[in-house]
Amino acid sequence: MEEFIARLLDLQDCDRDIDRLKADLESIPQEIKIHRKDTEGHEARFNLFRDNLDSIRGKQKKLAGDRADNVTRVTDYKSRLISLKSNSEYTAMLKQISHTEKMNDQIDNMIIEAMYEEDEASQVLERALKERDRAVKRSAIREESLREKLKEIESSLAVSQVRRAEIAAKVDQKQLKMYEKSRSAGHREVVTGIKNGSCGGCLTKIPPQSAGEIKGGKTYICPLCGSYVVWTTDSSF
Ligand SMILES: [Zn+2]
Repeated sequence: MEEFIARLLDLQDCDRDIDRLKADLESIPQEIKIHRKDTEGHEARFNLFRDNLDSIRGKQKKLAGDRADNVTRVTDYKSRLISLKSNSEYTAMLKQISHTEKMNDQIDNMIIEAMYEEDEASQVLERALKERDRAVKRSAIREESLREKLKEIESSLAVSQVRRAEIAAKVDQKQLKMYEKSRSAGHREVVTGIKNGSCGGCLTKIPPQSAGEIKGGKTYICPLCGSYVVWTTDSSF
């Protein structure tokens, strides 16, 4: 392998590391966001179940109040019975009493039903609370480790960038410009290996004679993608 190719290859390996580190770095805030969203989902579920339980308890309170009012009413009706003069008034009052008592029978049934509802809603809420707390804890631990990872990546990136500057300083200026122009145009493998007799960059078949020369250490420029095609450890033809 020619000297300038070896240097470009070094540079390319270093740039590949930097690209990977940058991609990792970018993925972390996204991951943190996902964890937070998960926690918010649990929070929302918990709030929903809590509101449901609150509304059941509100209903129970209302039923108990209605029931007490009716009891008071019946007591009042009964106390007025003796002072009633006519038969029709008396019968009407008895009817009123019976009606109010029936209403309270219905309310009693509703109170029992609401008790079951409250029981169930309490259990659901308790489960949601546990799930929420677990999610919050899990998310906090995960976020902490992601922040650690972020710091590690940042320091690796700084090291790689220093290393890159050192390598780049050794590359011929013209070659470096060509390499950087090619990379910024989206060409990630300025130096590539020959794979199965083809250019590793664009997969164009390389004539057998040229392939043989590549194996012998000669530099070949792919006519299609412009990559330097060299013999690497995983090369074959
Ligand atoms: Zn090519």
